[in-house]
Amino acid sequence: MTKPSPDPISPGAACPCGSGRRYAECCGRWHAGPQHLAASTAEALMRSRYSAFVLGLSDYLLATWHPDTRPSGLEPNEPGLRWLGLEVRKCATQGADRATVEFVARSKLAGRAQRLHETSRFVREDGRWYYLDGEIAR
Ligand SMILES: [Zn+2]
Repeated sequence: MTKPSPDPISPGAACPCGSGRRYAECCGRWHAGPQHLAASTAEALMRSRYSAFVLGLSDYLLATWHPDTRPSGLEPNEPGLRWLGLEVRKCATQGADRATVEFVARSKLAGRAQRLHETSRFVREDGRWYYLDGEIAR
């Protein structure tokens, strides 16, 4: 299987995570460049992972996944899947190196709206935040 190349995005474009900032000043900083993988908070990492989903950056998704729970690989986005937006509902920290982020991510597949409501757990090790796992709200 050939790997689809990530969708191009201009550094000045609005960030896919919906922060209202430019991509280069938001999630783009963590996706590549001198601050690669250095998201400063769990929320920043959460947002950058959503943007990575939107942009098809599966290497970034795997690199920010904790080694204990990281899958061996990721399926590319389903063809026709469109991510519509991210809403971060709640961020909470449990001590200095653990955090949870509750969010809703909306997408559309074949004309049908989908909604993912999840509380993700994050852990910081050696100064780097990782996604650990998540609980999906029904
Ligand atoms: Zn962003």
